[in-house]
Amino acid sequence: GCGICVNRCVFNAINIINLPEVLDDKPIHRYGPNSFELFGMPTIEDGSVVGLLGPNGIGKSTILNILSGQIIPNFGNYNEEGSWDNVIEYFKGSQLQNYFKKLSNNEIKIAYKPQMVDQLPKVVKGKVSQLLEGVDERNKLDEVVEKLELKNTLDRRLGNLSGGELQRIAIAASVLKDANFYYIDEPTSWLDVKQRLNTVEVIRDLTKENRNVLVIEHDLATLDAMSDYVHVMYGEEGGYGVVSKLRGVRVGINAYINGFLKEENIRIRKQPIEFEIRPPSDLIDSDTITTYTDFHKKYDNFELKVDAGEVNQSQVITAFGPNGIGKTTYAKILAGVVKPDSGEVEEEIEIAYKPQYILSDFEGSVQDFLFMHAKGYGTNVFKTDISKPFDLDKILDKQVSKLSGGELQRLATAVTLSQDADVYLLDEPTAFLDVEQRLKVAKAIKHLITRDDTSAIIIDHDIIFIDYISDKAMVFYGESGVSGHSTAPIHLRDAMNKFLSDVDISFRRDKETNRPRVNKTDSYLDRQQKEQGEYYYLE
Ligand code: ADP
Ligand code: ADP
Ligand code: MG
Ligand code: MG
Repeated sequence: GCGICVNRCVFNAINIINLPEVLDDKPIHRYGPNSFELFGMPTIEDGSVVGLLGPNGIGKSTILNILSGQIIPNFGNYNEEGSWDNVIEYFKGSQLQNYFKKLSNNEIKIAYKPQMVDQLPKVVKGKVSQLLEGVDERNKLDEVVEKLELKNTLDRRLGNLSGGELQRIAIAASVLKDANFYYIDEPTSWLDVKQRLNTVEVIRDLTKENRNVLVIEHDLATLDAMSDYVHVMYGEEGGYGVVSKLRGVRVGINAYINGFLKEENIRIRKQPIEFEIRPPSDLIDSDTITTYTDFHKKYDNFELKVDAGEVNQSQVITAFGPNGIGKTTYAKILAGVVKPDSGEVEEEIEIAYKPQYILSDFEGSVQDFLFMHAKGYGTNVFKTDISKPFDLDKILDKQVSKLSGGELQRLATAVTLSQDADVYLLDEPTAFLDVEQRLKVAKAIKHLITRDDTSAIIIDHDIIFIDYISDKAMVFYGESGVSGHSTAPIHLRDAMNKFLSDVDISFRRDKETNRPRVNKTDSYLDRQQKEQGEYYYLE
């Protein structure tokens, strides 16, 4: 052991610069010997949305499981079943005492949206309309269906829906209930920007009826727009997690970005996350990797047209737009998975491709998988440029089939980036990743493509990630599920303005950290920026 934290060194857990004192206390919950420990619980604020912000594997979902009564906290005594009497005694004098008293007596009504919505069809059968009508205790079915764009799913069965559709159905099913407490675990995976902000609206609507919401979210722009308060959480993946004090949403997210919790005197990251307030300067284009002609592709019910464009060395091109508009189809065309009706890539280039939906039917460990599929596995370059940013060492011994969504995403993206290619094509690489991982991935990609004079084309919905990584961008627009049209890779400023005017959303910058924040519709800045046609950058 390192001598400081004898009972925790088994996980090699502490890399936080100054050790929080709370680790001397009994944990709220511990799953087993040498296993994860949770310290602290969130505060409940009446009629508010409280966000939980922190890395993966530090107990956020565990907290929701405790508050919804699925786990009774054991205070570290993992050999015994937790008991409500102990819980009520432990929280004596705090607001949670009353909460758990009521919870144990079934006097609280809870609505819960689980993190993994792909499980939904396994537990609920039948049509979407039956599910939603059955839970519509607030009599808001029509309104919520409209807001979450669910009309054309109502007659369909739960079995054959996309990830984004299941996500919105799960959100609808939870907010329609007449509950006191709403626990919403990662609502935005697979959703586009507009759907994310519509989700914010249906969730904020609950607070107008003085209901309480606790939400876990990794998209900082969405979390910011959704929450009144946040608890920053910190700790070590799989080791321990600590809930820091409640902060107002702006102050809390800024503390997270700065990497320092002042009142607790805890540094959670060596450096702040830095944002550029200006658009990338007019690029002097580097050498061309390839050009491509216009692409056309027609399915029975959907038609895609992509404008001709060029891919340059050491540049990241992002591609964004609504769901169902042909982004994945475009990626599949480039990757050679789908044949276009017309159009071609003009040079012979190698493309390494990570699809949007990743399958994990591989039998064997992550290490086995890396041996078979990762280029250069075992070399020092692989260690520093791939293993480290993707934290692969932590998951080497896990079975691929048992990985969490975020772990599988890291593995798939890492293996794609390890290939020798001219263009790295990544379809929604941030899904299920936490904020830190999103940044590490962004940095790793930038590093690799500038080192090798290659390029990356990245489809994504996280505005802050896009802002951080893009040199140029393609905007997809049109009518979802009917027809899609994409621009060539253009200047990020023009792309942001086009995309954001299509969805009618403007952003301002936080004065302290420069991070982008969604403007309230019809606020002074919103009207002013829209008038000037500057939806994203202010000068
Ligand atoms: P988060 O939601 O922050 O990603 P979770 O609360 O899901 O994290 O999990 C925190 C840690 O607890 C994880 O590292 C996981 O390994 C562990 N864990 C979660 N559920 C269980 C369980 N039922 N048994 C043992 N360990 C668990
Ligand atoms: P995005 O990635 O922007 O969400 P996609 O490219 O996945 O959009 O899909 C665009 C549209 O094309 C959708 O309406 C989808 O149903 C349709 N589509 C995708 N693949 C096929 C296919 N193989 N056959 C018929 N329609 C398809
Ligand atoms: Mg979780
Ligand atoms: Mg897609």
